[in-house]
Amino acid sequence: MGAAPIRIHSAPWVVPVSRPMIADGGVGVSGGKIIAVEALPRLRQLYPHAEIVDHPASALTPALINAHIHLELSHLLELSESRPASFTGWISRLLQCRDRLGATGEQAQHAAAQTAEQQYRSGVSVLADIGNTALGREMADSFPGRLLPFKEYLGMAERTLEKNLQRLGSEPEEVLCSGHAPYSTHPRLLQALKARATSHGQIFPIHAAEPAAEGEMLREGRGEMVDFIRERGFWDGTFVPRGRGGTVEYLYDLGLIDEHTLCIHGVHVSGEEIDILAGEGAKVCLCPGSNQFLGVGTAPLRQYLDRGILPALGTDSLASNPEVSLWREMALLAANFMDVDPTIVFAMATRGGAEALSLGDLLGTLDSGKEADLLAVQLPGPATEALQVCRYLVSAGPAIRLARINE
Ligand SMILES: [Zn+2]
Repeated sequence: MGAAPIRIHSAPWVVPVSRPMIADGGVGVSGGKIIAVEALPRLRQLYPHAEIVDHPASALTPALINAHIHLELSHLLELSESRPASFTGWISRLLQCRDRLGATGEQAQHAAAQTAEQQYRSGVSVLADIGNTALGREMADSFPGRLLPFKEYLGMAERTLEKNLQRLGSEPEEVLCSGHAPYSTHPRLLQALKARATSHGQIFPIHAAEPAAEGEMLREGRGEMVDFIRERGFWDGTFVPRGRGGTVEYLYDLGLIDEHTLCIHGVHVSGEEIDILAGEGAKVCLCPGSNQFLGVGTAPLRQYLDRGILPALGTDSLASNPEVSLWREMALLAANFMDVDPTIVFAMATRGGAEALSLGDLLGTLDSGKEADLLAVQLPGPATEALQVCRYLVSAGPAIRLARINE
């Protein structure tokens, strides 16, 4: 058996993410892996017999990672046509809409498949999908990248706890599980979910600090969220408010924060809470498009970065985001945080996502040994400076044109 052939992909710009951009660069690939990332003349020297595939007027980048989506809500896109008056108002509408259209069935399947396909076409190779139905798990094998389907658990009332714990206990080991949110999920159920994830070596995603009302509920046992849960008949008075702190402190005290926990949204967090996340090496996924649509606030990106956390990026679902595109998420961030270096925003959609999902050894940057999973992004014109290229990547939005490279 001969060695796998070597191919060099060359372009005016290479964006390794792990180090500065390379002008007139190339990426050597062989057997589905990256073997070298260098300036083109150096690569030609190293591999004189390699086939060279040129990508004119393009930038070669790693594929993108969408660290948070709910594919099964794709058919509920009418929800994102008009902004809700409140966060709990949006949940009510979501539940009504899902009752009317069905949580499963052909329409849900078709919309989910369309969304997954569109994600892949737009350069996304990994989807961390959260669902209450089996839809994500059913789609995982046919997705050309990696679809990580998390089965979501929730239930705040004491009376649902035993049944949920039993269900969780009988899940086959390979099933990935997540907790919905501190406002909707019993603390003992959250602890059981985290303990199970730890014992199986799996990551543990949870919506955390999304609406301000969550902090109010955990701290004071009242407010919009409590009223909503009470109306639905799940507030049984057994929850003991803590009298202090926010969501992250609550989760930390429950023993749920470590390097394999992924806090999704992370909007309402104090400096002390970001210190906890940084100290534990916990992961954070920001969803700026969804946050903007639901009006829950803006996550403190600058503070995360200052404390050494590179958040991942997620689109969330079409039920809370009119357009699920990581390119649009980057553009929103770049517009909201003009002082943040665009290379960091691009790193969030690539390296940040890979690290959040424990895939950092395989994906997220262009480095030797990682999977040959590249994008050739078309540049609008000749660029003479690296910064120009990176500004374009993070501001172009969903109209960006690209080709995928896998060998
Ligand atoms: Zn979500």
